[in-house]
Amino acid sequence: MDCIFCKIANKEIPSNLIYEDEKVVAFYDLSPQAPVHFLVIPKKHYSSLNDIDSKEAFADIFSVIPKIAEKLGIKDYRTVVNTGESAGQSVFHIHVHVMAGREFKWPAG
Ligand code: AMP
Repeated sequence: MDCIFCKIANKEIPSNLIYEDEKVVAFYDLSPQAPVHFLVIPKKHYSSLNDIDSKEAFADIFSVIPKIAEKLGIKDYRTVVNTGESAGQSVFHIHVHVMAGREFKWPAG
């Protein structure tokens, strides 16, 4: 499968890796939208949030975020999961954006 995030998870292409365990990797976004902007992905390929098939997969992805935030010294952060093209998803391997280091407005618009 020609998926850029699978290639990152499998170390076939380089990334600026922050965290890795058996199920998940996290790496800095190539095009950061905040002073701190990284992505958390499962190693297993799911195209989007709509394809996640187990509670464990959700837990694997989300439970590492506070640990990484603590490691990076960030307390306040925004998490975003774009699901589907019209919602802004451009890479079809589920990923959670984690952004910090600036103020975020709400509603997002
Ligand atoms: P989305 O639009 O929600 O699908 O987000 C995809 C994100 O992946 C964008 O923020 C891109 O900047 C980021 N991205 C794409 N390719 C890479 C890559 N090779 N390494 C790191 N981030 C990437």
